[in-house]
Amino acid sequence: MHRMTSTQARHTRRAVLQAAVDAGARCHGADSDPDLFFRADDEGLAAWRARRTKAIRLCTGCPVRAACEELALRDGDGRPDADEMVRAGLTGRELAAVRAAHTERLAAAVEADRDTEGRRLDTLTTQLQREASTNPDSNRNGGVRLMAARTAAQNDRLRALAAQIRQIRTARRVRAGWGAAA
Ligand code: SF4
Repeated sequence: MHRMTSTQARHTRRAVLQAAVDAGARCHGADSDPDLFFRADDEGLAAWRARRTKAIRLCTGCPVRAACEELALRDGDGRPDADEMVRAGLTGRELAAVRAAHTERLAAAVEADRDTEGRRLDTLTTQLQREASTNPDSNRNGGVRLMAARTAAQNDRLRALAAQIRQIRTARRVRAGWGAAA
C-alpha cells in the first residue's frame, strides 16, 4: 500500500483543511451572513461587540472549527492592534496572539503551502501551454460538426485551466497585500 511521506502530508495539508471547512462550515449556509464576522469601517464598538458575540457563538458549535482556526493562522488573519474580525471563534487579537505563540510552526506550514501552490501553478501552466499548442483536429476524420465539437471541448479545457491559474494568482496577490483585481 502506498503511504504518504510526512513531506507530502505537509504539502497537502492546506487543501485538506480547506476541503473540510468547505464541507462543514456553519457559516456557509444559505441563510448565513458573511458580514457577521467583520466589523464595518464606521461601526461603533457596542454594535460590533454584539455581532462579535453572535459570530463567536456560531463558531462554538461548528464541526470544522479546528481546521478553520489553522487556516486562519496560515492566512495571517487577525492583528494584535485591531478588534475587527472573528474567525474560528477567535477575535483578530486572539488569532494574532496564537500566531505569535506558534511562529515557527506556522512559518513552516505557510512555506509548505506556497511550495504546493507553486508546483500546482507550474503544472497548470504547462498543461495550458500544451493544450493551446494542440490542434484538436490533427490527424482525425470527421465532419464539420465533429470538428466544431472538438474545438469547443478544447476551448472548455483551456478556459478551465486559465480559471484555475487565475484563482491561484489572485489568492497570492491578496496574501501579498494587493487587491484581488490588481
Ligand atoms: S469556525 Fe466559525 S468561521 Fe470557521 S467555518 Fe466554522 S462557523 Fe465559519
